[in-house]
Amino acid sequence: PSVPDLEALQHEDVAWLLPAPAAESDKYRRGVVGVVAGSARYPGAAVLAVAGALRGGAGAVRYVGPAADAVIARHPETLVHEGPPGKAGRVQAWVVGPGLGDDPGVAEVLASDVPVLVDADGLRDLSPAAVRRRAAPTLLTPHAGEAAALLGVAREEVEDGRLAAVRELAARFGATVLLKGSTTLVADAEGHADGVSTPMSPVRVNPTGTSWLATAGSGDVLSGLAGSLLAAGLRPRDAASCAAYLHGLAARLASNGAPIAASDVATALPRAWADVV
Ligand code: AMP
Ligand code: MG
Repeated sequence: PSVPDLEALQHEDVAWLLPAPAAESDKYRRGVVGVVAGSARYPGAAVLAVAGALRGGAGAVRYVGPAADAVIARHPETLVHEGPPGKAGRVQAWVVGPGLGDDPGVAEVLASDVPVLVDADGLRDLSPAAVRRRAAPTLLTPHAGEAAALLGVAREEVEDGRLAAVRELAARFGATVLLKGSTTLVADAEGHADGVSTPMSPVRVNPTGTSWLATAGSGDVLSGLAGSLLAAGLRPRDAASCAAYLHGLAARLASNGAPIAASDVATALPRAWADVV
């Protein structure tokens, strides 16, 4: 049977997929998301990724990196881990990359046995082999420029063929890929269950975006949010598409037709979530 190329994510799908804590839940059972982000040059990326992660359903956010002071000043609820990410306890999913510069921490995070979301600077020089050999799932969240660099093609080629690009990246890296931009697409690699190749799922299209999201830092909020949903137990395909849905809806709620800052998107996430469920 042939699989349709695209499926639009519906409001009801998101409502059904978003995690709700059980009555007897505690913060650790809700999931801990680790965020490896920020640098002396870009501390704000860490602040924004943590802002998204705090509102994505994980019970706690653990920050690892050089921007701890800035993160704590804005988000005192963050758990700060000093030292390498490999030594941070109880992390159920990692977000690595926003504002990182050329930090070597990416390899260490990829060596973990939990889901990992790689964004921004973490995508630079990322090798398909390093992702393919992971036992746990990987989610890549490039914009068109980052996707073009990963594929070794010109940016225009990605923009003119977004569906082909997102599928090619997913296949090459054996990962789930969320391609950002005016339309956000989520593709899975072809699956292999019990040695049998399963057909490629349709690419999901997010219907909620707004071009007011084309503002510095909004992608960092998205990666924190999606990582938090991964830590809360969603599959990468669902974490990515629910995050894009909530992120777009939050931007619309915050904006109402006016320009917004990335922080405004993070602040509006609880309202977007409440609107969906
Ligand atoms: P980044 O490029 O990493 O800062 O991420 C930008 C965020 O804004 C992503 O979530 C994009 O999907 C979103 N975005 C950027 N441009 C547009 C646009 N023209 N329309 C809708 N969403 C956009
Ligand atoms: Mg970005």
